[in-house]
Amino acid sequence: MRVMLDLSPEVRAALPDLVALRREFHQRPELAYAETRTAARVAAFLEGSGLSVRTGVGGTGLVAETGGAGRRVMLRVDLDGLPIQEQSDAPYASRVPGVMHACGHDGHAAIGAVAARILARRSLRGSVRLLFQPAEEGEGGAQAVVRDGVLDGVDLVMGIHLWNELPVGTLGVKPGPLMAAVDRLKIVVHGRGGHGGQPQRSADPVVAAAHVVTALQSVVAREVSPLQSAVVTLGSIHGGQAFNVIPDEVTITGTIRTFDEALRRSMPERLRRIASGVGGALQCRVEVEVKPGNPAVVNDPAVAEIARRAAARVVGEAGVVCPEPTMGGEDMAVYFERVPGCFVFVGSADAGKGLDQPHHSPRFDFSEDALGIGCEFLVRAAEEALAG
Ligand SMILES: [Zn+2]
Ligand SMILES: [Zn+2]
Repeated sequence: MRVMLDLSPEVRAALPDLVALRREFHQRPELAYAETRTAARVAAFLEGSGLSVRTGVGGTGLVAETGGAGRRVMLRVDLDGLPIQEQSDAPYASRVPGVMHACGHDGHAAIGAVAARILARRSLRGSVRLLFQPAEEGEGGAQAVVRDGVLDGVDLVMGIHLWNELPVGTLGVKPGPLMAAVDRLKIVVHGRGGHGGQPQRSADPVVAAAHVVTALQSVVAREVSPLQSAVVTLGSIHGGQAFNVIPDEVTITGTIRTFDEALRRSMPERLRRIASGVGGALQCRVEVEVKPGNPAVVNDPAVAEIARRAAARVVGEAGVVCPEPTMGGEDMAVYFERVPGCFVFVGSADAGKGLDQPHHSPRFDFSEDALGIGCEFLVRAAEEALAG
């Protein structure tokens, strides 16, 4: 696709830096709360920039800040890789066995570092706090940096995610719900184990678990309005050791995804009622535990409008798209519970070059043309936010 790109001379001059940093991070991915090398590299890159840099934020995160009074905008990028073995022939493929940047956070860290240096040289009408957040991948990084006071004095928050669901050259901006709330589910079906040849003397949790799994499909299909979105996925089921023994219990784990907060709060009761009712009918006791995770990412309409204007300056009106919401989750939501903000997707797929694998795939990679676009967007978003 052809789009009108408007990259500033500073971003254009920094394109080699963006690619080099991204590839360096990609080769040396670090898991949640172990991003010390990555954070140290960002800090080294920012040396001499005039930004005040604080390390160890939320454990392994980093904050870089411009001076200046007035409104303060926070720009957030993240640092962590995933426990995935990369399948790639790229010269910059991961050199760490079993660890990979399969979500694009290598690109985010590079974009944030370069954007920080550029913003440090601009005269701004307020100040910008660049947050390099650790542990985004389900490990509570956002909560950790919030506990360290990262939102103190912040008026609004913006963040980006490289996004292989959109072609490179586009920026996805959507007011309202964008990504789902993610809660964890654990179900234990307690039966009474015994001899496989004498089922009449047991209460079989394997059979009960099978019915529970089937019955839980009716929560979304029959209890949630067809006009609302929800997912209940049961991702693991474990029970028993031997072919001829009825075990005592079976454990099922899963994930619940919703957008609407009222619907989200109603889910534990529905799951409990159905699972214990079905299990009870089969003489098993069922425990259902729901562990709340991140809430839904809901973009503030006013901040989304600021983001949309900034995006249009980078990729033109035609390059700004309204992305489909996704049932994936993101801990950006933790900031948005406290401060208005907008999370923006940076189109990064180039199908012609095979750079369109889904996030978290062992073959994930993205078009590096998206790095300059993401960087230019962050810079302009900060300026646009402080201009008003
Ligand atoms: Zn991810
Ligand atoms: Zn991610």
